[in-house]
Amino acid sequence: MTATIIDGKAHALALRTRVAAQVATFRAATGRAPGLAVVLVGEDPASAVYVRNKGKATRDAGMESFEHRLPADTTSDVLLALVARLNADPAVDGILVQLPLPAHIDAQAVLLAIDPDKDVDGFHPVNAGRLAIGAEGFVPCTPLGCLMLLQDVHPHLAGLEAVVVGRSNIVGKPMAQLLLQQSCTVTIVHSRTRDVFGHTRQADIVVAAVGIPQFIRGDWIKPGATVIDVGINRTDAGLVGDVDFAAAAQVAGAITPVPGGVGPMTIACLIRNTYVSACRRDGVEARL
Ligand code: NDP
Repeated sequence: MTATIIDGKAHALALRTRVAAQVATFRAATGRAPGLAVVLVGEDPASAVYVRNKGKATRDAGMESFEHRLPADTTSDVLLALVARLNADPAVDGILVQLPLPAHIDAQAVLLAIDPDKDVDGFHPVNAGRLAIGAEGFVPCTPLGCLMLLQDVHPHLAGLEAVVVGRSNIVGKPMAQLLLQQSCTVTIVHSRTRDVFGHTRQADIVVAAVGIPQFIRGDWIKPGATVIDVGINRTDAGLVGDVDFAAAAQVAGAITPVPGGVGPMTIACLIRNTYVSACRRDGVEARL
C-alpha cells in the first residue's frame, strides 16, 4: 500500500485565502484591519526567519503587522512594559512573543503577562485551561493545524484510536486535548513510556511530536493509519521529520511530508487566530 500524501502547503494556502477574504469583509464592516504584534528579542537566525514569515503572512491576509525587534540584552522589565503596552493597544488583536527568549529573561513570566484574549499562540495557562474544559479561547497553532489536516482525512474522528507521541505544552498536550474533544480515544506516549511501538501499532491516528529524526519506523504503524509528522529536524541529509517517511508511507493510509506538511499550517492558523481574535473583540461573527 502507498499512502495518500497530505498536502499541508495546499491546505495552508486555502486557509490563508479564506482568512484573507473574511478579513476584507471585517475591514469593510468595522473600518479597521485586524492587527498582530510580533516581538523578537535577540538575533537568533531561525527566529528571525519565523518572524519575517509571520509578518509577511499577516500583511498578505490584509492585516496589520506590528513588528518589535529588541536587542538580546533587553531586560525583563523592558519586555514586560512592551507587552503591557500591546495589551492596552486597541489596534492589536494578537500578541506573539517569539520563543526561545534569551536565558536571562523568565519566559513563563512574559507569557503570563500577555492578555489571554490576545494570546493567539494559545500558550497562556488560561488558554491551556480553556482548552482542557472545552471553553472558548485560543488553541496553539501547530496542533490546531494538525487537527485541520486530520479532519480532512477523517470527517468523523469520534471513536478512533489516536496516539500522540510527545507531551510538550506547545504540541503534544494540546494535540491530545483537541483529539479528546473530537471523541477520539487518546493515548499520550513520552520518553518514559515502556512500549512506544506497542501503542503506535494499535493506532488509527499517530501524531509524532518528538524532536528525534525518523524516530517512528514503518513497522510501528498500523496498515491504513493516518500519520501526522510534526517534527522539524535539521540533519546532514536536510530537513526530516520525526517519522521515517519512506517506510511509513508504504504502510499508512495517509501521511504528512516534511517539509510541506504540518509546518505551513502553523502560520496559517496564526493568521486564523488573529482574525478570530479581532472578530471577538469587535463583537463580529467569525466566518471561516
Ligand atoms: P519537546 O522537546 O518539547 O518535546 C518532545 C517530546 O517527545 C517530549 O514530551 C518527550 O518526552 C518526547 N520524547 C522524547 N524522546 C522520546 C522517546 N524516546 N520516546 C517517546 N517520546 C519521547 O518538543 P516539541 O513538542 O516542542 O517539538 C516536537 C517536534 O516538533 C520538534 O521536532 C520540533 O522542531 C517540531 N515542531 C514543529 C512545529 C511546526 O510548526 N511544524 C512547531 C513546534 C514544534 P518527555 O516529556 O518524557 O521528555
